Amino acid sequence: MVSRVIPVDPFDLVIFGGTGDLARRKILPGLFRRYCANQIPTSARIIGVARTQLDKKAYRILVRDSIIEFSGNHKVNKKYLETFLLMLVYKKVDAQGEEGWAELKDLVRKDVVNAYYLSVGPGLFGEIASRLKQWDIATVESRVVIEKPFGRDLSSAKKLNAVLSTHFSENQIYRIDHYLGKETVQNLMAVRFGNLLFEPLWNSQYVDHIQITVAETVGVGGRGAYYDKSGAMRDMVQNHLMQLLCLIAMEPPSQFNPDSVRDEKLKVIRALAGVKSHHIVRGQYDSTKTEQSYRQDVENPRSFTESYVAIKTEINNWRWAGVPFYLRTGKKLKTRSSEIAIVFKKLPHSIFEQDGEKKQNILAIQLQPNEGMTLDVTIKEPGPGGMRLIHVPLDMTFAEALGDHVEDNPDAYERLIMDVIRGNQTLFMRGDEVEAAWTWTDPIIKTWESRHDVPKLYEVGSVGPEDAMALIRRDDRVWRDLK
Ligand code: NAD
Repeated sequence: MVSRVIPVDPFDLVIFGGTGDLARRKILPGLFRRYCANQIPTSARIIGVARTQLDKKAYRILVRDSIIEFSGNHKVNKKYLETFLLMLVYKKVDAQGEEGWAELKDLVRKDVVNAYYLSVGPGLFGEIASRLKQWDIATVESRVVIEKPFGRDLSSAKKLNAVLSTHFSENQIYRIDHYLGKETVQNLMAVRFGNLLFEPLWNSQYVDHIQITVAETVGVGGRGAYYDKSGAMRDMVQNHLMQLLCLIAMEPPSQFNPDSVRDEKLKVIRALAGVKSHHIVRGQYDSTKTEQSYRQDVENPRSFTESYVAIKTEINNWRWAGVPFYLRTGKKLKTRSSEIAIVFKKLPHSIFEQDGEKKQNILAIQLQPNEGMTLDVTIKEPGPGGMRLIHVPLDMTFAEALGDHVEDNPDAYERLIMDVIRGNQTLFMRGDEVEAAWTWTDPIIKTWESRHDVPKLYEVGSVGPEDAMALIRRDDRVWRDLK
């Protein structure tokens, strides 16, 4: 099958924080890959902006080295790389002062799509947004991209939204949650809404429960100081896990367009039940003989911040009444695995006697480390010997059938940046969604803070604290294996 890549229009993309970690690891290698896929025209321009003094040549070297370092398994085509680098320009601009803005204004072309990626600390979002307007650089057509964290609670999120909306309208603001850019997340929507088969089963009558897991093997890395003020609830649950929950639980939108999809997601967040304190487990990783503890990693011997959280919640609406949604995420766990599992109910009656009858159908959507989708079904074990049942995963990614298409899959950042250029906000969070997510999360965090809640310890390399196992075991269910 021949892959179809639709080129985007010429654009000027200004990356504030163009020398930073995110730009070097994700944004620039992603843009290069889309260029290699012939999606970016050579007339496009990428303008790196930061406060470091660099000339164009030095910036191109920095970007070349970053692309080589962070391209992972993708082979870097040196010829393409040289021509890609010609699209790059660099400007030293002080986000908090007047230096560089006049030159930036002269650089940005007004007759092509222009987008401003604020890959800087959230404290600079407001200043950059206001200077882009003050210097008459951004227009009503421009797009501005921001990265999480979108605030650290409801009140700061409201302030951030208010600052941004002073200068840009909501249809110009792209809040990135890279989980939404993953191929399988979109495939989840295709499977749900592109087939008759699943939708009739997608409710409390047929679904027993849903599990969403985002397990990491890494710790806090160089982000210790930031993470210790944030914790897993703010860093992962409020955004990534809630967005995944919304996509699974939302009603079919009337059309696949940004506001129809986001309206439905918003309704899910607003229908989320408050979480009872015995339905939530906070954890913090503890040292082993060879590994440091969380407290050692963040250099805070008295830290009560959670590096793990498991939650049982429900959605108060007709479709999902009584169906538990179990969410868990943590650092320094046994394996790196992000997965959504829709576990269907047991058969009402079985005509067979073997073990297979007890198994439930499970639709599992894997996001990390590999993307894929499987449906566990019961079949007859082939061959003679009577009716022996086996439970097997049916591969729903159809990699073989799709051939080239799968090879060309852009990663989440690539896809989302191209959506910004195309002006498609479907996979970006709207301001009211972010605020609704904080409205649900805030009381949970406030209760912990007021009670000085002490997280349960779990060993580095384990599956999480024992209390989290008990949380689901009490309901006669088990967490899916962290493979
Ligand atoms: P970083 O510290 O590595 O880079 C910051 C960049 O901002 C640098 O290029 C720096 O020169 C520039 N900068 C700082 N102050 C400036 C000023 N006054 N004027 C102009 N430029 C200035 O940060 P990062 O890790 O790249 O993160 C960028 C943003 O993305 C943050 O909001 C972060 O929370 C978010 N984020 C990062 C990651 C990641 O993997 N790194 C993941 C998710 C979200």
